Amino acid sequence: MPFTALGLADPLLRAIADSGYATPSPIQSQAIPAVLGGHDVLATAQTGTGKTAGFTLPILHRLSQQTYSKNRPVRALILTPTRELAAQIGESVNKYGSHLHPRLKSLVVFGGVKINPQMMKLRGGVDILVATPGRLLDLVEQNAVKLNQVETLILDEADRMLDMGFIRDIRKVVALLPKKRQNLLFSATFSEDIRKLTTGLLVNPVKIEVAPRNTAAELVEQRAYLVNKTDKTALLSHLIQEHDWKQVLVFTSTKHGANRLTEKLNKIDIKAAAIHGNKSQGARTTALAGFKAGDIRVLVATDVAARGIDINLLPHVVNFELPRAAEDYVHRIGRTGRAGEEGQAISLVSHDEYNGLRQVEKLIGKEIKREQIAGFEPAAIAPPMPAKPARSPRPRRSSNPARKPNGNPGGSRNRNRSRAKIA
Ligand code: AMP
Repeated sequence: MPFTALGLADPLLRAIADSGYATPSPIQSQAIPAVLGGHDVLATAQTGTGKTAGFTLPILHRLSQQTYSKNRPVRALILTPTRELAAQIGESVNKYGSHLHPRLKSLVVFGGVKINPQMMKLRGGVDILVATPGRLLDLVEQNAVKLNQVETLILDEADRMLDMGFIRDIRKVVALLPKKRQNLLFSATFSEDIRKLTTGLLVNPVKIEVAPRNTAAELVEQRAYLVNKTDKTALLSHLIQEHDWKQVLVFTSTKHGANRLTEKLNKIDIKAAAIHGNKSQGARTTALAGFKAGDIRVLVATDVAARGIDINLLPHVVNFELPRAAEDYVHRIGRTGRAGEEGQAISLVSHDEYNGLRQVEKLIGKEIKREQIAGFEPAAIAPPMPAKPARSPRPRRSSNPARKPNGNPGGSRNRNRSRAKIA
């Protein structure tokens, strides 16, 4: 089905053509008619499926068909978990709405930056407001914005908003909206908490599921390289250099770990930058822009900071450490293999993470190929068996001379070599 068959206004079709999209993605061909028809929507869709255009285009269409009232009250409210995602949705709204006459006014608001400029911009009125929940409530409290004329509420990445503890804020926001409105909820996973949230919020929603529940993106080639913890940095730099990776997104589990890895990579002339919650908004934006422009080769991120990062055709994602929650693995690898392109997700898995790897496999219902890279083989520990039986391999110390007394897999040979390499 071509875009022209979806019933979108001409200025929107022109913007789609500008973006170079040939055909609607599956979520778009299902969500666009449903939203245009005024229905509530419940969509299980991962990032990379084109969901942003799936809700942005029909909202722009609907709003542009109405007469504009002078004071421009907020008519579409988009709630997102993170600043980065909010900014990206804002960019999409501008991009897809660029040929509309008159232009719809949109604004992106999030915390961590001064509130006053946002208050000033709201004074002139906006049609579409993209916001993180906490900052939105601050603005409401300061009387900078009213939400009593919102016609469409969009909750994007709802599962992540719940993970981040936004449920109370979301409920507070919903209480400020008119009872009669359209609701769209997008979530990568569909948990019990999401089900609870949808009850009472969505009315007879059109249900859309473009990727099977909790299934890792099919286009992403997934591998696990078994390696000693202490050799991970050396293996990562080896992979980057050996394969001449130009743009790689690396996930660490802690902010501190992200900083440390970034420093080490920069020391060996692999240009890297870190983004995480302790970095200022300015630093995060600069790092992301540098990465997108190709000036920064490695972007090291924690899960929360990386949420919503949209980089076209991101070819490589590396899990320097596996995420604590297996669900995050799905979010992470959703950064690659976007919109029909193939991507590669590599996990560097040390002995203490073998169990975590099995949890991930259980969740995605698929075995991840385990490999060892010559020169970086882990200390002599039986490699983990895939999926079932799920008992952790705990070799007896006496039968495993490579195991250190402190419980870490030893591998001193490898460790020494890697130190020399990255020093
Ligand atoms: P999203 O899932 O909304 O984060 O979108 C993922 C990426 O797919 C973005 O970079 C979009 O620009 C791109 N995209 C969205 N719709 C299409 C389409 N119909 N064809 C090709 N690429 C698309």
